[in-house]
Amino acid sequence: MQHSEVLEGRADDEPTSCDVVIVGAGFAGMYMLHLARRLGLSAVVLEAAYGVGGTWFWNRYPGARCDVESMQYSYSFCEELQQEWHWTERYASQPEILAYANYVAKKFDLLRDIKFNTRVTKAAFQEEDCRWLVSTEAGMRYRAKWCVMATGCLSAAQTPDIRGLDTFKGRIYHTGNWPHEPVSLSDQNVGVIGTGSSGIQVIPELAAQAKHLYVFQRTSNFSIPARNKPMDPEYENSWKTNYAERRKRARSMPAGILCELGDTSALAVSPEQRLNEYERRWAAGGTSFTAAYSDLLRNAEANRTAAEFVREKIRTVVKRPDVADLLAPVDHPIGAKRICADTKYFETFNRENVTLVDIRSNPIHEISPDGITAGSNFHKLDSLVLATGFDAMTGALSKIDIVGREGLTLREKWRDGPNTFLGLMSSGFPNLFIVTGPGSPSVLTNVIVAIEDNVEWIADCIAHLLDVHADYIEATASAEETWMEQVRQAAEGTLYTQAKSWYLGVNIPGKPAVFMPYVGGVPAYQRICEEVAASGYKGFSIGTPTKGLHRREALLA
Ligand SMILES: Cc1cc2nc3c(=O)[nH]c(=O)nc-3n(C[C@H](O)[C@H](O)[C@H](O)COP(=O)(O)OP(=O)(O)OC[C@H]3O[C@@H](n4cnc5c(N)ncnc54)[C@H](O)[C@@H]3O)c2cc1C
Repeated sequence: MQHSEVLEGRADDEPTSCDVVIVGAGFAGMYMLHLARRLGLSAVVLEAAYGVGGTWFWNRYPGARCDVESMQYSYSFCEELQQEWHWTERYASQPEILAYANYVAKKFDLLRDIKFNTRVTKAAFQEEDCRWLVSTEAGMRYRAKWCVMATGCLSAAQTPDIRGLDTFKGRIYHTGNWPHEPVSLSDQNVGVIGTGSSGIQVIPELAAQAKHLYVFQRTSNFSIPARNKPMDPEYENSWKTNYAERRKRARSMPAGILCELGDTSALAVSPEQRLNEYERRWAAGGTSFTAAYSDLLRNAEANRTAAEFVREKIRTVVKRPDVADLLAPVDHPIGAKRICADTKYFETFNRENVTLVDIRSNPIHEISPDGITAGSNFHKLDSLVLATGFDAMTGALSKIDIVGREGLTLREKWRDGPNTFLGLMSSGFPNLFIVTGPGSPSVLTNVIVAIEDNVEWIADCIAHLLDVHADYIEATASAEETWMEQVRQAAEGTLYTQAKSWYLGVNIPGKPAVFMPYVGGVPAYQRICEEVAASGYKGFSIGTPTKGLHRREALLA
């Protein structure tokens, strides 16, 4: 295959040209670069950070850890890689995953085509030559036929708009943008806002360091003990001798995670059987707790049995009944929000140096230079940790000024909620691919599986376009509309919509409440994607710029 080269612009105002511009050097961007090269294409990755790893580059807070088992949370595309890498724990810690990302970058010689410290601010489609012109904060420009947004579903950290936050005179840390130098909080009064996945991981670690920890909780969340432990060599070996077959089986599971999937209704068994099953899964640890029965995310009554079991566990672990009541979630079905896996989270609230502050009944009134006033109580603080999550799925994209055909911006098009075909492309934006975009299973899965599937689909699609000498591919408005309806209906049949979650975007003020991920599961989604490709990309228009493009009015309708 003939290989193209990246052509650096000669004059200051001339953009660097290549076949593919990829934004983001997390697991998605790294794999996209690898496959683009395999197609013989020239590609450049633009990355805001100074290193690879994405999520695992930014989220360096103490306790940051994967909640998919490490034997599964890794690339499957290279047998040699999965054989030679050794994970040291059942669930990998952030430093180990970051080390893995760096190892992959080195092994596949990726670094030479990644521009670090390079934040993309604009990407504009030029209709005259069907090219994307991508601009960076520092004023660099790149011109490419294809643009792949590998910007991540959980990469735009969300800072809450609380009166007086900027007046706080101590240090403020965000879990999603944790400092790279060591942070010492010993002998300090520390406040932490947020009790989602990151909060649940960081709180036990902060409690072990701080003089006193104040946990400001608006919504309690379900969490299952992770029961993390050093890697069992036999277990590792059983995976490594059967990797191909196990990866295949994992991809046949709804979340792309190989686990024990209950196939009966929780209501079809006796209360004793159910209790035994929940006890067994609780003792085993991990988020596959909610896979115990087939209807836990579909039937409210079935769900209540699991939710009540976990609430009872919380009441058993937490000594003070008033604190246990606050920690036991009652306002959403278990699993309807991202379920967490923890290490001694609930136990942490038995410590003398930890206070749970219920900001649902005592809202944060303001932050002042010395602390937080919640209700009528003032809490004096030296440092503040924001575990307040992300503008999920659309946040990183909406921070870039993405301009498609006829001046249409993605922000404008998605003002009432994102719409895509298969999460991969949005009509009006030819040759712009999104990895794990809204409308794909993404955050409901082992995200590396979702990434690999999407990236391989994109690479195959580009190979097809090269074969047929096409200048562009674009999702049709009608395929997109039909797909978004399918995404909506899939969610409607579940309990997911009964929680005020970041899946729905309700953690972001003003963001339209639209359930963004596709709930239909990895196998169904993958089958649809493959069928679309096999049909010659039904639902997409493919051709030359002069043919078949729909008008701006139609795109906004
Ligand atoms: C704390 C935490 C824990 C998680 N745990 C799990 C887990 O247990 N299991 C699981 O499956 N998933 C988990 N995830 C999801 C995780 O995001 C994915 O698994 C995966 O790492 C995503 O890879 P990515 O390459 O798609 O995106 P990311 O890793 O988010 O990478 C995106 C990259 O794009 C860059 N970028 C964004 N915008 C721009 C721009 N404008 N210009 C230049 N660069 C830009 C970012 O800097 C970032 O490096 C977790 C996420 C978080 C935040």
